[in-house]
Amino acid sequence: MSKLRTFVRRFLDAFIEFLFPPACPVCGASVETHGELCGDCWGCFDWIDGAHCACCGYPFPDDYEASPGALCPVCAAGKNELEYVRAACVYDDMSRSVMLPFKHGGRIQYARFMSHAMIWAMRDVDIAPDLIMPVPLANRRLFHRAYNQATLLSREIARVYNAPIDFDSVRRKYRPNMGHKTHAQRFEHIRGVFNVARPECIRGKKILLVDDVMTSGATFAELSRVLRRAGATEIYGVVFCRVVRAE
Ligand SMILES: [Zn+2]
Ligand SMILES: [Zn+2]
Repeated sequence: MSKLRTFVRRFLDAFIEFLFPPACPVCGASVETHGELCGDCWGCFDWIDGAHCACCGYPFPDDYEASPGALCPVCAAGKNELEYVRAACVYDDMSRSVMLPFKHGGRIQYARFMSHAMIWAMRDVDIAPDLIMPVPLANRRLFHRAYNQATLLSREIARVYNAPIDFDSVRRKYRPNMGHKTHAQRFEHIRGVFNVARPECIRGKKILLVDDVMTSGATFAELSRVLRRAGATEIYGVVFCRVVRAE
């Protein structure tokens, strides 16, 4: 019986593979595994694969010889709210060209390669989170967008880290978009936007925050502040891409 079942399953897998051969989600070229990027598209992203700040993951300039554990000036000054932050790539034209359709255009099939890149970005940090928390969207935004892109990115991460996704312990109030704001204005704008609805789920927990993009770090900093006040012990963050300012 089990032999027959195996045979049927293999046959169905092959049939589905025949109907829908694996294709690069960005350009449609054929690839080996469903959801993965082709080599050409992979090569267009600015992956953060060199020396970076041991705490926040900020990439150091290519010619900078960083010693292991080296910190960027912000983290060296103790101004980072999180234990670790990692980003897979730099926010640029290429990452923007996948982020916008992923976030607003229903291209949820990008989630697979994006979350795999994010798991790769955490290769040098030894963490065992108790919870995976997608950065919450305000209900009004969730209603318009129909999905929270951070939750889609969290699924594979939660599977690999073997931790549950927590998407309702923290609520976010709606605030209109920020537009172009200075660093300080972004921190000001986000203050007070999160509140912990279920503190009993947060207390004593190590939490990995997940988002698609990091601009100033204000969102992670504010969410982290609120979670620590509710008793979270360690907080990490991972994003697909981050803004890196040209020095
Ligand atoms: Zn491609
Ligand atoms: Zn840093």
